[in-house]
Amino acid sequence: MSVLVIAEHDNASIKGATLNTVTAAAACGGDVHILVAGHNAGAAAQAAAQIAGVAKVIHADAAGLEHGLAENLAAQVLAIASNYSHILFPATAGGKNVAPRVAAKLDVAQISDITKVVSADTFERPIYAGNAIATVQSSDSVKVITVRTTGFDAAAATGGSAAVETAAATADNGKSSFVGSEIAKSDRPELTAAKIIVSGGRALGSSEKFNEVITPLADKLGAAIGASRAAVDAGYAPNDLQVGQTGKIVAPQLYIAAGISGAIQHLAGMKDSKVIVAINKDPEAPIFSVADYGLEADLFTAVPELVKAL
Ligand SMILES: Cc1cc2nc3c(=O)[nH]c(=O)nc-3n(C[C@H](O)[C@H](O)[C@H](O)COP(=O)(O)OP(=O)(O)OC[C@H]3O[C@@H](n4cnc5c(N)ncnc54)[C@H](O)[C@@H]3O)c2cc1C
Repeated sequence: MSVLVIAEHDNASIKGATLNTVTAAAACGGDVHILVAGHNAGAAAQAAAQIAGVAKVIHADAAGLEHGLAENLAAQVLAIASNYSHILFPATAGGKNVAPRVAAKLDVAQISDITKVVSADTFERPIYAGNAIATVQSSDSVKVITVRTTGFDAAAATGGSAAVETAAATADNGKSSFVGSEIAKSDRPELTAAKIIVSGGRALGSSEKFNEVITPLADKLGAAIGASRAAVDAGYAPNDLQVGQTGKIVAPQLYIAAGISGAIQHLAGMKDSKVIVAINKDPEAPIFSVADYGLEADLFTAVPELVKAL
């Protein structure tokens, strides 16, 4: 049997999370196929065909699939599900919106947020905010899986030459419709794809100070900006910058945490970063226990000095 990856895309290109999901799929065994369900999404299907290790791209095209509405996308996945032993989604907001519908309709248990494929039926996933790793074995005939993208290397985006097969698009079920989207425009790298992240915490004290102190350092480093939940809840930073258990899971090359204590819920979202730098005036702050480099200092002097020195 083959393994199906549900591509995340914008109809023109494939989003990075798909590449990590392909690596997880390859570890499950069998040929890896990718479903590109969209509208006028030929370019995305062609991009999927270039991904190394992909044997086939299934391209379903219809107006109802343009925005990845969960109801329509789940129906499209179910239409071809019987050909597959495993169906994998990235554990992104989009993937997590669709996978449970597919699992429920197939009457199987979803295996969520895997970080390792042990064998075709056995997977590892973090539990208790990443403090323990559960090994989960599934006896279901089809494994419906969401993949924690930081747990797997990205497959090469080029080098493959998969065939693109057109599949009949399922009808728009009319239960939901796309009204609009408001997407914050930013020249910064996207948080989950960034190589460097500068994150600020409650210590910043206001959104003005957050911007005044964190933004210049991020600008200097070409970094994405992140925030703790305390900073987000206090309105210092927008919601989509939250890193942690209930925010985004990130694993950049460099993560700089300024004025963040290091609560386990925050660590759950960033402790797999390659190099962690913590700036905190409390030497007992738990963030120092995961930091590769710790600076015990007042961030309002240390961060501007760092910007000046760079
Ligand atoms: C179910 C649940 C889910 C959660 N999910 C998340 C999540 O996804 N992400 C997340 O971040 N949190 C999450 N939390 C909240 C988490 O428990 C913490 O409350 C939060 O992470 C604290 O944010 P903080 O480190 O910015 O603030 P604090 O814990 O208040 O830490 C502020 C730090 O700044 C330091 N500081 C103060 N002034 C300065 C200064 N001038 N210079 C240098 N350092 C200074 C202090 O020493 C302190 O260590 C969750 C909690 C729960 C219960």
